Amino acid sequence: MKKLLSVEHAGRGHWVGNGFPVRTMFSHHSHGARISPFLLLDYAGPAEFPPSDQPRGVEEHPHKGFETVTIVYSGEVEHRDSSGGGGVIGPGDVQWMTAASGLVHEEMHGRDFTQRGGVLEMVQLWVNLPAKDKSAQPHYQGITASQIPEVPLPSAAGTVRVIAGAFGRQTGPAKTYTPLNVWDVRLTAGHRAELRVPEGHNTLLFLLSGQVELAGGEMLRDTGLAVFDRQGDSLTLAALQDAKLLLLSGEPIDEPVVAHGPFVMNTEAEIRQAFADFHAGRMGQLVAKPE
Ligand code: MN
Repeated sequence: MKKLLSVEHAGRGHWVGNGFPVRTMFSHHSHGARISPFLLLDYAGPAEFPPSDQPRGVEEHPHKGFETVTIVYSGEVEHRDSSGGGGVIGPGDVQWMTAASGLVHEEMHGRDFTQRGGVLEMVQLWVNLPAKDKSAQPHYQGITASQIPEVPLPSAAGTVRVIAGAFGRQTGPAKTYTPLNVWDVRLTAGHRAELRVPEGHNTLLFLLSGQVELAGGEMLRDTGLAVFDRQGDSLTLAALQDAKLLLLSGEPIDEPVVAHGPFVMNTEAEIRQAFADFHAGRMGQLVAKPE
């Protein structure tokens, strides 16, 4: 059994651009090596947006040295980047963008969603890359809900959608640089589940909604984050209400992290170089959007 290290709840929110009202659930700056290989988790919404003709989101900005993973629960997110990647994702879909050597991108609400209005709920996870892969070519994986295997839990306790890594015999579609798991977990009120999580993985459990009792009686309420020890290989959860959870686990990357804004490198010199590259236009640019 993995030992529970802490339970934390969402603090105050902030806006990313004019499209994403987020609460930061963890970051490298506050949690350090305990969350490696993950760097940041922003939870956006659920927030109601009225119909509009004006695009909403966050305009062109750079990233380098890591990956951004966007999971949509409600609404629509449209992305395009200077490596040629792009697409629109809706509920159940995932965008896995590898910034690696550097790119610029924009993240907007989908055009249809903007015009229609509705509830936006999504998370954005930042995943670090090992030093040897920070100079890899940027690329983009658009993953639709139909590509993500859904595994039923025993005794009708719920389901696990395997976005990355493996759960039981099922493997997720996302290609990753280091061993990690990203699972979209749903538990049914009144049921218990035991999840096997690899020994040695840093493990984080984020509760988007519902209520779950952890082993030892500790309670996780929305929007709560449970941080577990690397040792041990299982978690036991009892759903007191229907629960929507995101389980993240991964082998720690044992390297220095120097993060500044949109860049995550290993040294200060590399951060200075990233800013210089961006300002010199070496991270590319977005092509003009067709009207
Ligand atoms: Mn971004």
